[in-house]
Amino acid sequence: AAKADGRHTFRFFEPAMDESARERLQLQQDLRRAITEGQFELHYQPLLGFRENIMTGCEALLRWRHPERGMVPPLDFIPLAEDTGLINEIGDWVMRTACAEAAHWPSDIRVAVNVSPIQLKSPTLALHVASALSAAGLAPERLEIEITEAVLIGDDDVALDILHQLHAMGVRIALDDFGTGYSSLSYLKRFPFDKIKIDRCFVSDIGADSSSAIVQAVVSIAAASNMTTTAEGVETGAQQTALRQLGCTEMQGYLFSAPKPAAELRKLFAPGPIVPDDLQAAG
Ligand code: C2E
Ligand code: MG
Ligand code: MG
Ligand code: MG
Repeated sequence: AAKADGRHTFRFFEPAMDESARERLQLQQDLRRAITEGQFELHYQPLLGFRENIMTGCEALLRWRHPERGMVPPLDFIPLAEDTGLINEIGDWVMRTACAEAAHWPSDIRVAVNVSPIQLKSPTLALHVASALSAAGLAPERLEIEITEAVLIGDDDVALDILHQLHAMGVRIALDDFGTGYSSLSYLKRFPFDKIKIDRCFVSDIGADSSSAIVQAVVSIAAASNMTTTAEGVETGAQQTALRQLGCTEMQGYLFSAPKPAAELRKLFAPGPIVPDDLQAAG
């Protein structure tokens, strides 16, 4: 709000501030309250192994239930949280919540957590992750962190160091949205990746253009470096068939399941068999 003595200044600047800047400012203020007011929740999307078609893990995806706007998608607020530094606090909440939830799942199901490149600038990240794991009683091997190529741009020794620390703890590291950034293949040697997630854009165009050749090349590179591959955004049976033939290790997409609230996901695990019927049917 404008201070009384700042009124002229405020009115002078206000017309110059366009609608989107005002909206951004408002959203930024709302974001500060979102954690303390419990407006965040995590949804979980299954990851399936290609070979037996069984669930190997779930990716935690952040949702913001805004009191007036309803559900705000992550791409509408994560960049803002990154610009303001709030992503560190939000990311810590995500890590603790996801680890605590995964502790209720069968022990062969991993949880994948997205970590922002901004979080990888903070030298205490590995300590925060270790603390989230021990608070949840979750083995580090059951956690996988997903980072995008943005982290590889510029020579960020802090990020590299953090990733090595996490990896040494037993946490798995996945390179997310592969093929959409500007990174060089040489990073695949420097960084301790266990998995490459092939971006949805290559999956949706599979069969239509050079996408299948690209997927095949990524699968070969991954295999040669002891990494697995996950195809993102699998929506059709035809895509699934093509990806299986190309040798992808794992898949994720609406064909099998959309991201689900924690309580719904837990229903898939209980009682009895780990393989839920609807996932089996999709195979
Ligand atoms: P991502 O990590 O690549 O996550 C996959 C996105 O693809 C999710 O979107 C998911 O809902 C969507 N998706 C999954 N299967 C399909 C499909 O078959 N078709 C289509 N069209 N989409 C599919 P979502 O949940 O909107 O998240 C978008 C992005 O926001 C994520 O991309 C990730 O980069 C970021 N994000 C989400 N949660 C977090 C978080 O907790 N922390 C950080 N730093 N980033 C997050
Ligand atoms: Mg991801
Ligand atoms: Mg992704
Ligand atoms: Mg993606």
